[in-house]
Amino acid sequence: MNIPFNKPYYGLNAEHYLAKALEIGGLTGNQNYLLSCEQKINELVGSHRALLTSSCTSALELSALLINIQPGDEVIMPSFTFSSTANAFMLRGANIKFVDICLDTLNIDINALKKSVSLNTKCIVPVHYAGIACDIETIVDIAEHYRCVVVEDAAQALGSRGKDKYCGAYGDLSTFSFHETKNVTSGEGGALVINNPALEERAEILRSKGTNRSAFLKGQVDKYTWVDIGSSFAPSELNAALLYSQLEEIDKINAKRIALCERYLENLSSASGSDTFSMSRSHAELGGNGHIFYIRLNNEETRNNLIKFLQKNGIDATFHFIPLHSSPMGTKSGGGRFSLPNTDKASETILRLPLFYELSCEEVDFICQVICDFFN
Ligand SMILES: *Cc1c(COP(=O)(O)O)cnc(C)c1O
Repeated sequence: MNIPFNKPYYGLNAEHYLAKALEIGGLTGNQNYLLSCEQKINELVGSHRALLTSSCTSALELSALLINIQPGDEVIMPSFTFSSTANAFMLRGANIKFVDICLDTLNIDINALKKSVSLNTKCIVPVHYAGIACDIETIVDIAEHYRCVVVEDAAQALGSRGKDKYCGAYGDLSTFSFHETKNVTSGEGGALVINNPALEERAEILRSKGTNRSAFLKGQVDKYTWVDIGSSFAPSELNAALLYSQLEEIDKINAKRIALCERYLENLSSASGSDTFSMSRSHAELGGNGHIFYIRLNNEETRNNLIKFLQKNGIDATFHFIPLHSSPMGTKSGGGRFSLPNTDKASETILRLPLFYELSCEEVDFICQVICDFFN
């Protein structure tokens, strides 16, 4: 048996839509699939407006431009995230303040956030780790109190629910990823979701290299020109066509992943415990989208030994984020001043298990059996 960690599923209509996009032509001018994706994402999230981008990284960069981050501005985020969350704001000169996470969810620790935030904070960037919502309602309240902006890094959380809305519907801006490793993918891809209507018009301009091209495409102006700063943040129709074939099946894709997570939980519950490992919380109970299923071992050595043991049995399981504050770039930019014990612990002990749409229940059972064998 050989079980990869991830295997992208492209959707039943993928080849048909790609062929149709090529046949219609105009892979940047024609916007059929781009607009269909944007409409679908907007419906899913319940947001004001969704704009497709070339990646979540570009959606984050677009966010930092839109909210006018200036050199020295303070931006708060967890250290247990991907480099892009920090880079997007550092590219504008922001001063990043990292805060710790909670070990039960690996999401931002609200008490740590409360200690870190101040009237100097310009923006808070929470992450919904594994596709399970962080306490975004409380974060929005804190941000209102300190008059700062919330940009949700919802890269992993398309279709995940918070207490009263979908992830991505809370922040002034929110970003999603359609990278190969995410639940739905166009290889590279992303979206910026806008909930603050005041940011909508400028977002379209900044995405289109600082031109008013989208107003032109809508027939609102008779020629388009350079009107603002900006960059090239939009994807091609080919990416949008591939993405659309999965977005139309997203309920089915997420439901399957959630069911696989539940199967892991059931199979492993008797083996888990304080002397072995702890597990991800239930996506089914918490409104998650089944993006990641992980276990956490008691220490780094056991985690690494289990990775090797699984590998020997043909199973590809993997660690996750190296904390940003103590990474080479984090250290160079003053990350040494942060003490984030839960972040360090999570990074050392986490093990993500295979999870993808075409993974079978029998394969999950086999993986769980190998994990139990390791402990016996
Ligand atoms: C995947 C991911 C990103 C980056 O997404 P890209 O689409 O690859 O740019 C950013 N933040 C988090 C939390 C992610 O998981």
